[in-house]
Amino acid sequence: MPVFSHAENYNHEQVVFCRKDEVGLKAIIAIHDTTLGPALGGCRFYDYASEADALRDVLRLSRGMTYKAACAGLNLGGGKAVIIGNPRQAKSEGLLRAFGQFVDSLGGRYITAEDSGTSVADMDLIRQESSHVCGVSKFAGGSGDPSPVTAWGVFHGVRAAVDEVYGSPDLAGRRVAVQGVGNVGMHLVRYLHEVGAQTVITDVDSDRLKQCSEEYGSEVVSLDAIYDADVDVFAPCAMGAILNTNTIPRLKAKVVAGGANNQLDDLTVHGQMLQDRGILYAPDYVINAGGLINVYAELKHMPREKALRDAESIFHTLKRIFSLAKERGITEAQASNLVAEERIRTISTLSSFQRGGL
Ligand code: NAD
Repeated sequence: MPVFSHAENYNHEQVVFCRKDEVGLKAIIAIHDTTLGPALGGCRFYDYASEADALRDVLRLSRGMTYKAACAGLNLGGGKAVIIGNPRQAKSEGLLRAFGQFVDSLGGRYITAEDSGTSVADMDLIRQESSHVCGVSKFAGGSGDPSPVTAWGVFHGVRAAVDEVYGSPDLAGRRVAVQGVGNVGMHLVRYLHEVGAQTVITDVDSDRLKQCSEEYGSEVVSLDAIYDADVDVFAPCAMGAILNTNTIPRLKAKVVAGGANNQLDDLTVHGQMLQDRGILYAPDYVINAGGLINVYAELKHMPREKALRDAESIFHTLKRIFSLAKERGITEAQASNLVAEERIRTISTLSSFQRGGL
């Protein structure tokens, strides 16, 4: 496959192919942009149908991390790694430590973290070979589960979007549909409950639904009925690509604001479709940046309270994005990209001596 033209399309700085046959390691590390700081992004362990699919995924995801960090105001660039294989069969101490050595060989240009298919325990193994890893266990000096911080940021993002549409961020009495009450969704429901919002929830996991309805009085609906729920806010907190041609026309909410990654099936088409229906969209990578803010605090040895406070600033970031979208007549998704690109451009004009950083 035309590797260089791929990297050029996405404008990557560096793509590293890692191979160690003795432990069955085949991995790709993609460093998209280090203008703001070291490229940070999780390591996904997945059984890709082809190497081309793995390359596409790592290039796309690492670019997304550049935008996420830039909008969150962090001194981090965008990176990502993929390990090719079925994690249940292929994962071993040797493989993870070999991967850790490749990470280390980049001298801190790339910092790895947990992602789908990898765990906190895996990060602890990688840590044996490199200090350029975050999201390690609390015993190894890590910050632990990021999802309460992610959900806290989403909660403040919901307040910002409601403020924009209804003229007040007050959520008391507002109805919010939460799709997926896993780590992020459950915390979000709790925060919403605490301020008097009512929640309508769905999940494939009946235990979590039961827990949520018992503890927070949530109304449970079927997986499909969540799209028709009579609510003010729709908060996707499970899978990606759920905002598409089939689901958008069904939404009754005036706001889409939730923690899931890659919510829009097609950024341009479905971002526009939401706008045409008068639905305000809080761009996913902006509203769910709390997890990244949390690991940044870990890297800077700052307490969780600081991460929680920084996650609250997602409110103001989103308000700025909403204003820009209105001012320029563009979608919120396009506006968030502009905000990220503008910050990278501005910071790149500073000399590295003047710049902050890790
Ligand atoms: P999770 O696996 O803990 O929760 C996902 C929940 O969705 C689970 O309870 C699962 O049963 C449910 N689910 C699965 N299929 C579903 C379906 N078809 N309909 C409804 N519910 C379904 O994951 P999480 O950590 O809570 O992350 C949720 C989303 O937020 C993901 O898209 C993730 O990438 C994104 N995200 C998470 C974090 C974080 O800090 N955990 C940070 C940024 C983004």
